[in-house]
Amino acid sequence: MLDSFRLRLALFFVGLSLVLGLGPALYVHQVASAKLTQASGETLQGLGRSAALLLARTLYEREREVRLLSKTPSLTRGAWEAPALRERLDEIKASYPHYVWVGVVDVRGEVRAAGDGLWIGQNVAERPWFRAGLTGTFVGDMHAALGPQPGSAGGMGAAAPLRFVDFAAPIRDPSGSVRGVVATHVHGSWVDAIFATVLGQEPLVHGVEALILSRSGAWLYPFEAVGVLPVPADLPVEGAFQVVQWPDGGDYLTARLPVRADTANELGWQIILRQPVAKALAPVAEMRRDMLLLAAVAVVLAAFLAYRLAGSFSRPVEQLAVAAQVIAQGNDTHAFEVASRLREIRELAAALRDMTDTLAAQRWDLQAINFNLERQIEARTLELQEANQALARLARQDPLTGLHNRRAADERLEAEFQRWTRSGAGYAVLLMDIDCFKRVNDTHGHEVGDRVLQHVASELRQQMRSTDFLARFGGEEFLAILPDTDRDGARVMAEKLRHHVAERPIAPVGQVTLSIGLAPVKAEDGDCEAAVRRADAALYAAKDAGRNRVVG
Ligand code: GH3
Ligand code: MG
Ligand code: MG
Repeated sequence: MLDSFRLRLALFFVGLSLVLGLGPALYVHQVASAKLTQASGETLQGLGRSAALLLARTLYEREREVRLLSKTPSLTRGAWEAPALRERLDEIKASYPHYVWVGVVDVRGEVRAAGDGLWIGQNVAERPWFRAGLTGTFVGDMHAALGPQPGSAGGMGAAAPLRFVDFAAPIRDPSGSVRGVVATHVHGSWVDAIFATVLGQEPLVHGVEALILSRSGAWLYPFEAVGVLPVPADLPVEGAFQVVQWPDGGDYLTARLPVRADTANELGWQIILRQPVAKALAPVAEMRRDMLLLAAVAVVLAAFLAYRLAGSFSRPVEQLAVAAQVIAQGNDTHAFEVASRLREIRELAAALRDMTDTLAAQRWDLQAINFNLERQIEARTLELQEANQALARLARQDPLTGLHNRRAADERLEAEFQRWTRSGAGYAVLLMDIDCFKRVNDTHGHEVGDRVLQHVASELRQQMRSTDFLARFGGEEFLAILPDTDRDGARVMAEKLRHHVAERPIAPVGQVTLSIGLAPVKAEDGDCEAAVRRADAALYAAKDAGRNRVVG
């Protein structure tokens, strides 16, 4: 499956589109992350700068307010119990919602006049703002409430943590000696208001949190962080931003801005704004998700198109392969027909077509040659068989008389003997010798002798049954084998032959006679020669007894 051209090409394109798509996507992602980090950091810086300005401005305004108040005549020379002063203090307290206390304290530390009459008669000599206020204008750092709290009745909300910033200024009489101290306490909620203004109504939407660090490097704000959240060691330098790992876990884009209030005593606050990196980079994450989605669609599309395209390449090749298989199985009339717009494929098909045509033609030629060759071999084989048969015949035939020769006689004797031993079918042997043949030769010549031999052979053959066997056994000696014949039958047959030959003279020789010895096969015969020997002995006996007779 995996070795198919089509699938491989499709996979290749998928890989290629992944590489080509993912590389730039990753690059864009990196660049976007860096740029967005930079932009978010700069935004944080801007927000921090605005918040720092507002805080500084408010601190300065509150300080100016208490300083101006310290110089009003009703304080410097008037009686502090006057209802007009009381009204003035009420007005001031009401003019700024975050004031929790506005009051006048004499040099002994006794509260003599206050907005809403709070703490009148109480002694505040131990308060730092009072002591500092005796000598000059003072801005006290944010601190937790001490002792009985005016804020609890101030309508700022009972649940709000009570934190204050104190402002104080000395009251001097016209001679310049200090009469007392005028002071205001501002509830820490004013910081909330400023950050709400700067960061929007819901700063947590973007996860931006604002914190304030004191000069000594401890949290002043928010109040929940004080003494709880450790200060990170690697905060950025003033005016800068960077990604910081905070002790409460998580990476935050963090900016640090100083608050320069231009007050009598500089508080040295620093605003820290932090935003979780994940929130700051949320648009990048969204973009990455979109890009991945787009990439997935592109890859699927590329795979689909590549698969289709590869199909248009591989289909003709597959068709050619199928055609080649059909032809390989012997069907060489099958055609290499492919519809392809690719020139190389068409040329390949044409080349394969030519090749199979040539192969088919060669195969036909070979088949024709083979066919002829087989026929020739058949003919030659037949001739050879006939020649062999003729040879076999000749090898067993006497050329002069056409009778079987001595070899054929020996084979027949052996065969008859085997038949006799197997089935008990008896036979008889006759040995016939021409009488005084030497004289024929001597008198009439050898050629006449030959003709006499042919004549006797012919006469003997005429008289014999088709089942009998007749052979020229020696020079002028003949052997007959008579199957299924006993001694009497053999004697009858021998006499018949002797008479027949004797009664047919041949010119110029005249009468020709035969002496015949006969012997039937016997049970005690050890081989086929035994009967022949007895017939031979009988023949001798016939010669001895005067010739032209049968013995046996
Ligand atoms: P008998 O048998 O009566 O005792 O006398 P015979 O003259 O026939 O005796 P023998 O067997 O001695 O002579 C056989 C002669 O046959 C000798 C040989 O010249 C002759 N002969 C053998 N084969 C041939 C042959 O193929 N052609 C001719 N013309 N003569 C042959
Ligand atoms: Mg003889
Ligand atoms: Mg003889």
